[in-house]
Amino acid sequence: MINNNDCKIVHDLLPNYIDGLTSKETSDYIKDHLNSCKNCNKNYSKMNMKLESNLEKSTEKEINFFKKYKKRLFLLKLIVSAVFLIFIIFTARKMIIISSLSNKAEKLKDSNNYHSVEYHYNYGTYKKVEVFKLDDKYKIIMSTMSDENYENFTIFMKEKLSEENGINRYLANMYVIRGQEKTAYLNENMGNLMNLQNVLYTENLWNLFINSIQTSITTTTLNGKDCYFIANFNGYNNFYPSGVYIDKETGMPVNAVSYEYELEDGTKMYGYPKDFIYEFNTVDDDDFIEPSIEDYQINN
Ligand SMILES: [Zn+2]
Repeated sequence: MINNNDCKIVHDLLPNYIDGLTSKETSDYIKDHLNSCKNCNKNYSKMNMKLESNLEKSTEKEINFFKKYKKRLFLLKLIVSAVFLIFIIFTARKMIIISSLSNKAEKLKDSNNYHSVEYHYNYGTYKKVEVFKLDDKYKIIMSTMSDENYENFTIFMKEKLSEENGINRYLANMYVIRGQEKTAYLNENMGNLMNLQNVLYTENLWNLFINSIQTSITTTTLNGKDCYFIANFNGYNNFYPSGVYIDKETGMPVNAVSYEYELEDGTKMYGYPKDFIYEFNTVDDDDFIEPSIEDYQINN
């Protein structure tokens, strides 16, 4: 016999029974009833299905959310990795270019036979510094030209005398022309600061890396030479911060662009644009023939 009261009780207990929250005695009682009561059994099947489909739906939602999240996380990782990779590639390229040019310049720097010219033009004044080096001898010509003024210092450094604080001192003859005036200073003891510089010198790999990050390098040609234009290089020989054209073949500068800088007291200074010429193994003894002394007044 099926008691209607039993049906009511079972109906109330079914949700807990499906969730497995009923005691063993209650569960046995419900099972017995479900086996004998078609109505309650139907009810039970319906409730069970509904719950399962709800559960499936919510799990599906969660899975979809995680799938999307994972996809986005993957994309983010991909973008960050790509940006990092590009940064590494660009920095590595700059490091390779700078160190290769620096190595070339470093080799030429100590050359025993070279001719260098450095000149600039500013506010109507033309300045030129020319160096001839042959083994232990130097000839240095410094000239300044303007409409009102002509000055030329030609110094022959014939013999190295000593080295003081890293500066080589030479036995030297100096010939000075100031307008119409010609004076010779013979057998003087003079310091020589005219050495070739490696503009892209860096102290170590870390320094090279740090400098390479901020430096910009472009390929170009200037005065018929294949060059790199290197800007914002902040190396050890930081002479041309705004930019310098470096000869790809030699690692030596071809031109430096103008720049502004401030002194400690706030005074604005201006770095002139400069042109450079470097020639190697072109100097011979003829370049060291001194001018005829009769044309000069001897200074004692
Ligand atoms: Zn029933």
